[in-house]
Amino acid sequence: MQVLVINSGSSSIKYQLLDPMSGTVAASGQVTRIGEPVAQGAPTVEHHSEGRTLEHDGAIPDHAAGLRVVFDLFARSGHDLAGAGLAAVGHRVVHGGEVFYRPTLITDAVVKSIDELSSLAPLHNPANVTGIRSARELLPEVPQVAVFDTAFFHGLPPAAKTYAIDAKVAAAHGIRRYGFHGTSHEYVSEQVAELLGRDPASVNQIVLHLGNGASASAIRGGRAIDTTMGLTPLEGLVMGTRSGDIDPGIIPHLARTAGLDIDGIDELLNRNSGIKGLSGVNDFRALFELIDSGDAAARLAYDVYVHRLRRYIGAYLVELGRVDAITFTAGVGENNAQVRADALAGLTRFGITVDPVLNTAKDRAARYISPPEAEVAALVVPTNEELAIARAAARLVRQ
Ligand code: ADP
Repeated sequence: MQVLVINSGSSSIKYQLLDPMSGTVAASGQVTRIGEPVAQGAPTVEHHSEGRTLEHDGAIPDHAAGLRVVFDLFARSGHDLAGAGLAAVGHRVVHGGEVFYRPTLITDAVVKSIDELSSLAPLHNPANVTGIRSARELLPEVPQVAVFDTAFFHGLPPAAKTYAIDAKVAAAHGIRRYGFHGTSHEYVSEQVAELLGRDPASVNQIVLHLGNGASASAIRGGRAIDTTMGLTPLEGLVMGTRSGDIDPGIIPHLARTAGLDIDGIDELLNRNSGIKGLSGVNDFRALFELIDSGDAAARLAYDVYVHRLRRYIGAYLVELGRVDAITFTAGVGENNAQVRADALAGLTRFGITVDPVLNTAKDRAARYISPPEAEVAALVVPTNEELAIARAAARLVRQ
């Protein structure tokens, strides 16, 4: 059985063809710079299959054209997507609003509802919808499933999901905390219970998803009780290019004094803030090169990042009361031992210790970075959103 997973962004499509049982990836790739002029020598589509990479160099005017090229590359690498082998297409959808909180079989009405939620996620949902429409046109016989980034946080307790603003205004405009990266937080938290050898219902845990976007969650017995992202993925931790939490008073202040309109402020906070806004780079490898060269702005960016992360770890320790595991995942969380060590430094009195040897071990598997005697397990667990989406889609079409 195979599932095609599609993650359609505003100018890109990432995809994987995989077996939802074993997780074996038959092919994967990405389409980039959709709707943009092409530069010489830089492929717009890269398709990896059986150790080979096929490339496409031409301009990709829109998502449908991108998917057509992808399907052509699948055919050239021996996979007939329109044939009988494809059980489902799983689509990552960023915002499910109040409407969608479990994997959902896609119909015309579902596509319309996802599109209507675009006001809550103007950068993401329209791109997701475009990807879904194109895939449905190209594969009309294959069931398509939407998996929502917000779903895992649907049941946040009222105190955690409510903003303290005029309740009537909030209700009229769908303003509440939704949370994102839910597929990753859910998948990783299940892996954690397995690694601990415990029933997920008995595990209290903190998951730190630290990639370009970053979020933390507090999970009690398999249910999220808090998370750092809110109405949009801008709230919470400091990220590659996003500010995370700021005083909301900064927004009217900028509008009044810096001559920025609302789109300019949105752009500032989403694309030119965070690590990039403070240091000039958003990639952690580049950030560490700058720090190693003595760059003071890069050092400050890192310190602000770690400070915010520790603030939330502290908050979630208190919210959960008893914590069994704290887990690092995603690009930075899985690869950067320094961030892990600094995030949990000096917390031995809370039962939290990181073993420097385990923490710096070159190991890609899910693993402990705390010593065996530590009361709280500190872990690294690689996330795999594609596999989680493929499994959710397969489960739904098998019912
Ligand atoms: P996205 O949110 O785009 O999915 P990722 O989870 O891929 O992001 O994380 C991207 C971040 O992870 C970048 O800051 C990058 O520097 C960092 N990263 C990825 N691989 C490594 C690595 N091998 N060593 C250190 N940092 C890494």
